[in-house]
Amino acid sequence: MDFDTIAAISTPMGEGAIAIVRLSGDEAVRISDKIYKSPNGKKLADEKSHTIHYGHLIDPTTNEVVEEVMVSLMRGPKTFTREDVVEINCHGGIVSVNRVLQLVLRTGARLAEPGEFTKRAFLNGRIDLSQAEAVMDLIRAKTDRAMNVALGQMDGKLSKLIDQLRQALIETLAQVEVNIDYPEYDDVEEMTIPVLLEKCSWVREEIKKLLQTSSQGKILREGLSTVILGRPNVGKSSLLNSLVQENKAIVTDIAGTTRDIIEEYVNVRGVPLRLVDTAGIRETEDIVERIGVERSRQVLKEADLILLVLNAAEELSIEDERLFETIQSMDFIVVVNKTDLPRKIDLQKVIELANGRKVVTTSLLKEEGVIELEEAIAALFFEGQIESDDLTYVSNTRHISLLHQALDTISDAIEGAENGVPVDIVQIDVTRTWELLGEIVGDTVQESLINQLFSQFCLGK
Ligand code: GDP
Ligand code: ZN
Repeated sequence: MDFDTIAAISTPMGEGAIAIVRLSGDEAVRISDKIYKSPNGKKLADEKSHTIHYGHLIDPTTNEVVEEVMVSLMRGPKTFTREDVVEINCHGGIVSVNRVLQLVLRTGARLAEPGEFTKRAFLNGRIDLSQAEAVMDLIRAKTDRAMNVALGQMDGKLSKLIDQLRQALIETLAQVEVNIDYPEYDDVEEMTIPVLLEKCSWVREEIKKLLQTSSQGKILREGLSTVILGRPNVGKSSLLNSLVQENKAIVTDIAGTTRDIIEEYVNVRGVPLRLVDTAGIRETEDIVERIGVERSRQVLKEADLILLVLNAAEELSIEDERLFETIQSMDFIVVVNKTDLPRKIDLQKVIELANGRKVVTTSLLKEEGVIELEEAIAALFFEGQIESDDLTYVSNTRHISLLHQALDTISDAIEGAENGVPVDIVQIDVTRTWELLGEIVGDTVQESLINQLFSQFCLGK
């Protein structure tokens, strides 16, 4: 395929002391040579592939030195995009890295669209669509575990499984073809239905298994949306602070300073918590007061987990009971705080109201009970499941939706075959399942979808 040469800053803005401007395309080396000067005068075009070189960038119009740089030269096809790639490593800082990018653009490269490097890797056959999406997940991964899911997917774990399922469906379809082509042989007909049922049932089970991992996968990717709830003064801010301090807060890339809901990520034993409305807790103490009844109801409704904080040194109030009512149908953990003070709360009553949910006692002042709380959160998330790294998690919303559709069509096929529906009708459902699974790996997707998907990527990836 023929592509022009693209360039972008490929390190996250403001991170680290080194920034990289990456070029990809046929002209990558030639453009670089126009602005790069090595101490010994050697051109990049004369250097070996996969080597790194020290030198300076010179603005060809003024002959001024722009930057001191290290330049990596990687010739295709052994690169991420399968094209020639040049990476210019310069000192970090937005000003200097922008200057390098501008120079590269003036010298003949085009600014890459978001996700365009990854898109090229896909279009050049280097990776399939689910792997491309994994790159995006990786960029956004909030914890090591989420990172592993993305890495597994990038590695092609999901693709391999999907390919196996599609292979089974193809074999089924081949059998059906034989049946349609040679209707006069009775034994072919007799064989077709059992083979079809066996293969399709296996595919259905595998799809179900994948979907079972999807809620966990999604949480690993997006964080367990968590709201700390409780009356004023019970210790919400203290809880927030101890969670944030003990677990390295994960920097979020959401530029949400003007939004009325602020989120903060913490990593609790591999479970990323997305603490919602931390600003509300810090500033006005009252989520309802700050964002209004309707909006806070919405926030509660969208939460995966509520941490309901109570004050052990006070009796349960009507307000507390009302909070229990509000969150009755949700996943919550009760935190009975201030256990260092003389206890006034009726713990038995709290346990009753908790209705089977975990009740943890803490003294945030004395830093007691936080570990138990964290364990309760992790236990809730993994629901006693073995934390197997072997599991192929599905975390991507698009994949989940396709799998749900595939589950429907394969179930239709199975039901039809069981109820004596003619095989050429059943065939349609099997074929549709095969197509839907193909969309996950990008085999059967239309170009507009591809464009839309890749435009979601961060710039420079
Ligand atoms: P919020 O209004 O729910 O956010 O509660 P804060 O976290 O701001 O805490 C209210 C007050 O209770 C502060 O003075 C805290 O220092 C105090 N506090 C928080 N946790 C404990 C605790 O475990 N024991 C005691 N004795 N005081 C606490
Ligand atoms: Zn507070």
